[in-house]
Amino acid sequence: MIIAGSIAEVRAAVARLRRDGRCIGFVPTMGALHEGHLSLVRAAKARCSAVVASIFVNPTQFAPGEDFEKYPRTFEADRALLEAEGVDVLFAPEASEMYPEGATTFVAVGEIEDRLDGQSRPGHFRGVATVVAKLFHIVEPDHAFFGQKDAAQVAVLRRMVRDLHFDLELVVGPTVREPDGLAMSSRNRYLSPDHRQRALVLSRALRRVEAEVASGVVDAQPLIRLGLGVLAEEPDIRLDYFRIVDPDTLEDVADVSRGALVAVAAFVGPARLIDNVLIPPR
Ligand code: AMP
Repeated sequence: MIIAGSIAEVRAAVARLRRDGRCIGFVPTMGALHEGHLSLVRAAKARCSAVVASIFVNPTQFAPGEDFEKYPRTFEADRALLEAEGVDVLFAPEASEMYPEGATTFVAVGEIEDRLDGQSRPGHFRGVATVVAKLFHIVEPDHAFFGQKDAAQVAVLRRMVRDLHFDLELVVGPTVREPDGLAMSSRNRYLSPDHRQRALVLSRALRRVEAEVASGVVDAQPLIRLGLGVLAEEPDIRLDYFRIVDPDTLEDVADVSRGALVAVAAFVGPARLIDNVLIPPR
């Protein structure tokens, strides 16, 4: 596995793969890797003849006071995991490489940026869109892999790819969960055993809503009441949002019959956790 710290190095490595006629799959991450990330690497390997992964804790997607400084950084373990998966190139730049001195250009995706996590984390999706646009320009992948776990991010990036004519396919992989239902996340490392137990209420609420939809309920209001009721069983979490929205626009929907995203975010002890389920159209 080639480890590239500079844009020039990763471009040269990708150019060599291209000269060999290889199709490039790209998996961007912030590191502290778990099975969710590795599932995307495996999807990329299945689809493409070469895989590029990146590890970059992107400062511009963290608001002041968030966990940028203490975000887990486990480079050696991550490197070994990616190597074992057969990744061809790992791009792991410093912030100064991605944001040259005096950089002032950002990607704005419009109103969708301010919905769900964008509403609670002002500027978050502007930072995400900007860094992903930079990474796409640098790597120029054929396919780029993202997790459904970050459903609002998927909606923002789909829009950006379409609006800015990126010549690539965005592939979305399903959320990978722990056996008890907790969605895997690098931020789960912040949880004490007690918090981890409380965090299960997020996936429990989503499963209850999903079961209610399966039993025939389509109106959003009773489904939201049901979800909020389950979340209230765990008074020690601080709810950020629980919403039922259109998966593409992230706007609230009145019923789920044309498909919907049921999404939740909550602070559990020191961690802000998110989870969601996608309700297919009937
Ligand atoms: P992150 O390192 O948190 O920025 O995540 C990098 C990529 O992994 C993003 O596309 C995430 O959506 C995806 N991802 C994170 N957690 C999971 C999970 N539990 N299941 C599937 N994909 C995930």
